[in-house]
Amino acid sequence: MPPLFRPFSAQTTCNICGSTEFTRGNLTRRPDIPPPQCSRCRSVERHRLIRELYMPLRPLVKDWRAFQFAPDRSVEPNWFQSFRSSIFEDASRVDMMEIPFGDGAYDIVISNHVLEHVSDDIRALRETLRVVGATGIVHVCVPSPIYRWETEDWGFPDPRNELHYRHYGADFPMRMRGAIPNSLCVSVTGVDPVTGSTDNVYFFSYSAATLQLVARQFQHFAIPVARFW
Ligand SMILES: [Zn+2]
Repeated sequence: MPPLFRPFSAQTTCNICGSTEFTRGNLTRRPDIPPPQCSRCRSVERHRLIRELYMPLRPLVKDWRAFQFAPDRSVEPNWFQSFRSSIFEDASRVDMMEIPFGDGAYDIVISNHVLEHVSDDIRALRETLRVVGATGIVHVCVPSPIYRWETEDWGFPDPRNELHYRHYGADFPMRMRGAIPNSLCVSVTGVDPVTGSTDNVYFFSYSAATLQLVARQFQHFAIPVARFW
């Protein structure tokens, strides 16, 4: 049996590049949180906690075809059977609301801090679910939904809010599920090994069996999972 509690002790080594130097940068954070940005690879909390979360998933994803919107250092391309990505700043970027891939073209689609930049996030998630077919999963991380009660969507890319269309709230998984018939979701809570900050990653799928497989990998290592159906 894995230990039920994993006591947190901040490590001062970046789990992505091995650097021990961190800065505050110009990031908005609570003053009592240790400097969050790695001086070498520029990673912040979410990159490192997602990387931690993928350690138990690697035996599964090695057979999966992956696509990532806005690639970052949270996952490595060589963890997957194949890996493609679309860079947000590129003119040739893949439009998340109209993805030019067939049904089931990938086993996993990953997007970290992308959905808040998309005008119709429900359409975007429906499209990504189509692309992973009946048995694949969509990994979504959005800014801090667990620290706000309800999603607030103002309908335009607000320059005062980093060009986001909305703030996500704790209703995020149910809001998406409610709008996309038969979609299912589990969330998992990760901890950044450098600052101790927590954040959720959401896995959406049409397959209860795939989500159960993923959830059990986390639960085996005492990583908190919530199930939204
Ligand atoms: Zn680093």
